Amino acid sequence: MKLFTKVLTIVILFVSLQTTGQTTDAVKMKTFIDALMKKMTLDEKLGQLNLPGSGDIVTGQAANSDLGKKIREGKVGGLFNIKSVAKIKAVQKIAVEESRLKIPMMFGMDVIHGYQTTFPIPLGMSCIWDMDLVEKAARIAATEASADGICWTFSPMVDISRDPRWGRISEGNGEDTYLGSTIAAAMVKGYQGNDLSKNNTIMACVKHFALYGAAEAGRDYNTTDMSRVRMYNEYLPPYKAAVDAGAGSVMAAFNEVDGIPATASKFLLTDVLRNQWGFKGFVVTDYTGINEMMDHGMGDLQKVASLALNAGIDMDMVGEGFLTTLKKSLSEKKVTQQQIDIACRLILEAKYKLGLFDDPYKYCNEQRAATEIFTPANRRAAKEIAEESFVLLKNKNGLLPIRKSGIIALIGPLADAKENMSGTWSVATDMSTPISVLQGLKNAVGGNAKILYAKGSNLDADSIFEQRATVFGKTLHRDSRSNEVILKEALDIANQADVIVAAVGESAEMSGESASRSEIGIPKIQQDLLAALLKTGKPVVLVLFTGRPLTLQWENEQVPAILNVWFSGTEAGDAIADVLFGNVNPSGKLSTTFPQNVGQIPLYYNHKNTGRPLPEGKWFQKFRSNYLDVSNDPLFPFGYGLSYTTFTYSDIALSSNFLKGNQTITATVTITNAGNVAGKEVVQLYTRQLVGSITRPVKELKGFQKITLRAGESKKVTFTISNKDLKFYNSDLKYVAEPGNYKLFIGGNSRDVKEADFKLEL
Ligand code: BGC
Repeated sequence: MKLFTKVLTIVILFVSLQTTGQTTDAVKMKTFIDALMKKMTLDEKLGQLNLPGSGDIVTGQAANSDLGKKIREGKVGGLFNIKSVAKIKAVQKIAVEESRLKIPMMFGMDVIHGYQTTFPIPLGMSCIWDMDLVEKAARIAATEASADGICWTFSPMVDISRDPRWGRISEGNGEDTYLGSTIAAAMVKGYQGNDLSKNNTIMACVKHFALYGAAEAGRDYNTTDMSRVRMYNEYLPPYKAAVDAGAGSVMAAFNEVDGIPATASKFLLTDVLRNQWGFKGFVVTDYTGINEMMDHGMGDLQKVASLALNAGIDMDMVGEGFLTTLKKSLSEKKVTQQQIDIACRLILEAKYKLGLFDDPYKYCNEQRAATEIFTPANRRAAKEIAEESFVLLKNKNGLLPIRKSGIIALIGPLADAKENMSGTWSVATDMSTPISVLQGLKNAVGGNAKILYAKGSNLDADSIFEQRATVFGKTLHRDSRSNEVILKEALDIANQADVIVAAVGESAEMSGESASRSEIGIPKIQQDLLAALLKTGKPVVLVLFTGRPLTLQWENEQVPAILNVWFSGTEAGDAIADVLFGNVNPSGKLSTTFPQNVGQIPLYYNHKNTGRPLPEGKWFQKFRSNYLDVSNDPLFPFGYGLSYTTFTYSDIALSSNFLKGNQTITATVTITNAGNVAGKEVVQLYTRQLVGSITRPVKELKGFQKITLRAGESKKVTFTISNKDLKFYNSDLKYVAEPGNYKLFIGGNSRDVKEADFKLEL
């Protein structure tokens, strides 16, 4: 009897739990969608799986367009890259007033690093190492995008990449799994907030699932192939972190994995994503991802569309393979009704969670659009975030910061280039708004110094190359005068100056999608310009624009100061001026290794030791793993970045040398600001498992803290380590921590570290 009462209590408790809070919402959503799906025809269900681009739809003509017709017929689940409340309202009106079931559409966009207010490109953002700022940037992006009608962003892009030839390395968070995972979660939180149904939050879409960043030879869309162990330990965790943070959608990658395009990979989309990670949102293809499987050699459109649905794709971006072939495949039993129903349900659930069924126009508020976009507060935040992303690569004899006095010669093709400041994927930027370096310097000096400007050179000597690298309105206004004339003009002003600021490097579209490079130096004509400027004997500061790690051997040898500013968004010019003049002390740390030359690629800090490692500090030794013509060292290691001050690290104090079972140990260091200005330091924790059941990396980032120190100030930084931090996927793909000896390192970059030893006992 007693037992019976207990069981009854548990059952009652369970039932009441089921009907409270979140569960009530889930039940309500299910009831609503069940009822709606009962009314839907097969064609209408397939319509929900269809995501066409908006083309160049014009507001007043939307109703009479082809797209308008399709929407009216219930053949469109959502649209992407359509901008403005007016346009979005016009097409939504067709869906909710003229289609049979009045199902609202969802509106997506590539809101990658900001909307109209833009932040640093993601690779730059990943050098900030401050998750509050990362989240804040995503929050502002969501606020602005949602004020303009958008409820879904194709971000975060979390593809780990160790190949700077790959143009899209600019869109990701660099080479490290731990840092990448931390950023992935922060971005999802920033976009989605804690309530997706609010009108200022938007749904995230983590991409590109999976391994897109491992394209062979760094050539975009190219084949990837890697072991499961590497996949699970190094490449998959950031996607999982985004999923764990609640990302509402996932985008499949263009590349193949294990010989199967990711869009048709049941292993990735069903086994890993759904079954292992418990993902509950929907999966969209990348742009024409289904159709491209015909070129991958997977069959005709009907075949590849059925492969995609069978693998776990729910929504078809652009190609309309689902819309045009799934009915036939269903009748031929190549796909099942249940699969179509599941996909349709997941899309409807996303719309439900976004609150579109309650109010299809909830993101279409003209007043919000007029008051919440590109606001002074958002721009101030963007400037602050931009400043934190800059990485000071070199500063010989403290050349930087420079004084706001005398004559400053600002020279280079990127100096007066506002269209390029936001970098790649800045689709919502109004190109007239970004602040150029020239403008930023002028704003900063007021009447205190004279700024002289000259272009100095074009981006590249080859005008065809320059054309390819300045697309989407990101012109550099190619100068048609001869190279000699352009250079002479620059040298004339350089000779009058007290200091030269050279704004050189890549254009915004020299990285990003379909912008891979086989040589990754500063274009030759700009190097010639730099050489000529150095020859004047004046101090030269290199302000480096780039969307990827570059090979800067020569520059590092010759130029006294190098400040890497990536592409840092609409406020770039003011942010750069603040750092050049020392109002702000740079604190960015690299999230990707800078190699010495292209031949070293892939070069990353968390590599394996090999059976024939090169002793530290050595270059060539016969029969060791090295090169005849270059050392194994990077030019700048992962985690590296200088400051206008210097930081010293004490030795590491461990609370114990034994980490037992589920207990924790702490590692403490004291950091001192040994210079005479305040600064920020990113204190980095790495570990190494000395003996493992599989070979283990020589170092792995396990934690970091960004601290601010006044001149002369010291602070203790403590990290807590548990066996969870030491877990990895073994050869059976089991997530384990293994007992044995470990090293622990703490430092300001991955190379210059203090060391301690401990033992894990399980
Ligand atoms: C890119 C995606 C992007 C999509 C939609 C594709 O070409 O690979 O990252 O989200 O286009 O614009």
